[in-house]
Amino acid sequence: MAKEFIPTRVFYEPGVLDYPLGKTLVQHFRQLEIPITPTTSHNRVIGIPSKNATEAFREAKRTLVIGVRRSKTFQSCKPSAHYQLPLVTSCPGMCEYCYLATTLGKKPYVRVYVNLEEILDIASKLIQERLPEITQFEGAATSDPLPVEHYTGALKQTIEFFGQEPNGRFRFVTKYTEVDSLLDAQHEGHTRFRFSLNCDEVVHKFEHLTPSPEDRIIAAGKVLNAEYPLGFIIAPIFRFHGWKEAYRRLLERSADELAKRAPSGWSSDQLTLEFISHRFTLKAKANILTVFPNSSLPMAEDERKFKYGQFGYGKYIYKQEEMEELREFFQEQAKCYFPLAHVEYFI
Ligand code: SF4
Repeated sequence: MAKEFIPTRVFYEPGVLDYPLGKTLVQHFRQLEIPITPTTSHNRVIGIPSKNATEAFREAKRTLVIGVRRSKTFQSCKPSAHYQLPLVTSCPGMCEYCYLATTLGKKPYVRVYVNLEEILDIASKLIQERLPEITQFEGAATSDPLPVEHYTGALKQTIEFFGQEPNGRFRFVTKYTEVDSLLDAQHEGHTRFRFSLNCDEVVHKFEHLTPSPEDRIIAAGKVLNAEYPLGFIIAPIFRFHGWKEAYRRLLERSADELAKRAPSGWSSDQLTLEFISHRFTLKAKANILTVFPNSSLPMAEDERKFKYGQFGYGKYIYKQEEMEELREFFQEQAKCYFPLAHVEYFI
C-alpha cells in the first residue's frame, strides 16, 4: 500500500518565498529536517543522484520542487476538456507505463506551484472568454495531483473556486486515496472526481508505489458519499490469463462499494466510465526499458496492430479481433454493474 508521500529532498525557487504557501512549505520541510536547497528554476534542477537511468528516475520521484508557475495561459486539453489546469507536475508513483515518463523526459520530479491565486485568475479569464459556454478544465493532464495535496491544499482551493463558478467545471483523475481533506469542500457538483482503477494483477505488477485497487474503491465510495460527480477510468486494460474474471471482479467490487456509500437519490446515470486498452509507442517502449530494464510489460510489436497517429507517432494497439472482444466485454460489464452509467469512450 502506498503511504503518504514524504520527499527525500526538496528544492525551491527563491521566488516562492514571496507567497504565503511558499514560505509555509519551506519552513515545514526545514522543520522536518528534510534537505532543502534553493534552485534557480523549477525547470532545471541539479543535484538529484543519478548513477544510472533507473536511479535517476527513482530519485527524481522522491524529489519535491516548489516553484512559481510563470506561464500566463494554459495548454489546451482536447478532447476531455478545454484546458489543462496545472496545479502539480508529475507524481511520486512509479507506474511502468505512465505516459508522463515519456512526456516529462528528464524531469520526472514532482513540482508544486505556490501562486495558486494567479493560476486561478487565468482560469477565470479563460472562462470569461468562452461565455456563455461552460469551460472545462482538467487538473491531472501532467500529474496525479492528490499525493501532494496534504502539503499544498491546492486541489481543495481549486474545487471551491469552481464551486463558485457557474460557467466553469473541473475534473481530475487519481490513483491515490487521501481524499479526506476534500470531502467537505464546497464543490457544488462542479468537480468530477475520477479514479483510475485496474485489477489487482496489473496494479501489483506495474503500478509501483500506488494504493491498492481496494483502497481506491473505498476512497471512491467516500467521494461519492460527499456527493461529488464520480467517474472511473479503467486503464490500461491488458489481456492476460484470467483477464475477464479479474476485471469482472473489479467492477463488481466497485459497484458494491458505491451501492453502500451512495447518497440517497443517486443512480448510476451520474457515473462516467472511460476504458483505455493498453497501447505503446516505440518511444515510450524505449523509455520504459531504460528506466525499468526488467519490465514484463507486454510490448512485442508483432503481437499488436500498428495504428498511425498524429505527428508521426504511431502506436501499437491490440489486434482488431482482440480489441472487439475487449470492447464487447467492457460494454457488457458496464451494463451489468452500472446499467445507467455514461460510457464516455472505449479506445
Ligand atoms: S499514478 Fe498516474 S501520474 Fe503517477 S506514475 Fe502512475 S500513471 Fe503516472
